[in-house]
Amino acid sequence: MLRKVPLIVILGSTGTGKTKLSLELAERFGGEIISADSMQVYTKLDIATAKATKEEQSRVRHHLLDVVTPAEPFTVTHFRNAALPIIEELLAKSKPPIVVGGTNYYIESLLWDILVETKQLQADASENAEHLTAELMTAMTTAELHEYLNKIDANSAIRMHPNNRRKIKRAIEVYQSTGQTLTDKLAEQRQQPGGNRLGGPLRYPHIILLWLRCQQEVLNERLDKRVDAMLQQGLLQELRQFHNCYAGDKTEEFTKGVLQTIGYKEFVPYLMKYDAQHDERVVAYLSENNYELPTQEQLSELEIVLANLAESLQLLSKCCEQLKLVTRRYSKKQLKWINNRFLASAQRQVPDLYELDTSNVSDWHEAVFKRAECIIDSYRQHQICEIMPMAKRVHPGGELNEETSNFCSICERHFVGEFQWGLHLKSNKHKRRRESQRREQQRAANAEAEA
Ligand SMILES: [Zn+2]
Repeated sequence: MLRKVPLIVILGSTGTGKTKLSLELAERFGGEIISADSMQVYTKLDIATAKATKEEQSRVRHHLLDVVTPAEPFTVTHFRNAALPIIEELLAKSKPPIVVGGTNYYIESLLWDILVETKQLQADASENAEHLTAELMTAMTTAELHEYLNKIDANSAIRMHPNNRRKIKRAIEVYQSTGQTLTDKLAEQRQQPGGNRLGGPLRYPHIILLWLRCQQEVLNERLDKRVDAMLQQGLLQELRQFHNCYAGDKTEEFTKGVLQTIGYKEFVPYLMKYDAQHDERVVAYLSENNYELPTQEQLSELEIVLANLAESLQLLSKCCEQLKLVTRRYSKKQLKWINNRFLASAQRQVPDLYELDTSNVSDWHEAVFKRAECIIDSYRQHQICEIMPMAKRVHPGGELNEETSNFCSICERHFVGEFQWGLHLKSNKHKRRRESQRREQQRAANAEAEA
């Protein structure tokens, strides 16, 4: 007796092989791919956001790529409302939906019932507070929004960092669209079986999470090569076109969001300084040099004959370095997210998470594909899989109150939750500041005594 088709989710940072595995599993199990990437939903920037190529898209059906233009707003609610019906339909046809991750909160919105329904605006929702239009909200500072939230839902306000505009706005929107505060909503969800303070119960009973990992040195090397490949595919032309279309439009908040896309924003210094005509010279140089950026030595030689070209290549190299840095940082952030959300949540329902090491490409078929296949097959056939899911651990701050916030007057920073607060008080940064403040006061007192 076969079990129901599972929802398969592939996690992992850029360069770990998510696209490759998703294609192979979709072909093996007759599934379809759902992209959960807040930048790939937009048309344009295909190379910069590493979308599945047209050839890859022709092998397996892909969903939620290129659904809106960068001039249109697209939120996690849009995403969830678009993705859930696709998942339902695939499951009904016994085709496994394969979610390929990129954006953490997009994935969370599919796994847990954490987001509240955005109903039609109810006229009486704003009984107690003046209704904020979207335009008004955009115009308000984050501090003003926080103050506003404090009036309608003080409990949420205290849980949120005063600089976290996205969360604050979201809490206000919940209230305005449902007439119920976020605090009440969350309390309601906690009552449901499997629910807890971090969110509601799992949306689907059959979920397999595959986490692609890669040794840091190997990943760094891959990221270097990836940037070269992107240049070869026409990254510069793509960025130029996008820049000319959207960089001037800073009136809408969502356009500002798109301009923060990793893979674009790192190149803004270059794009601002040079034009399309100059790009052609750069591309001509690169195509003659195997799309490898010049070394310092090569730059010095080039400087003597073509100073202007050398200078632009140097700036371009800096932008590429910045992109690699940001990508590495992002992968660290994701590591933290996976640890917190899937391994440390003793109180939350979490699906099983399987780790697959993709460091050795020549061993891909055995080490990655075969293992993933075995995990999914064993699951469906009710057999015990030799590959075990990762062990969950207890979060060191699991018992602490995470619903408060503290302000450090020495460092002038807010901290949400007792755990973060405890860490801060023990941090070297805080101790150094405290010490220097103490010395400062001592010096002032001495000066006063002398006077
Ligand atoms: Zn401090």
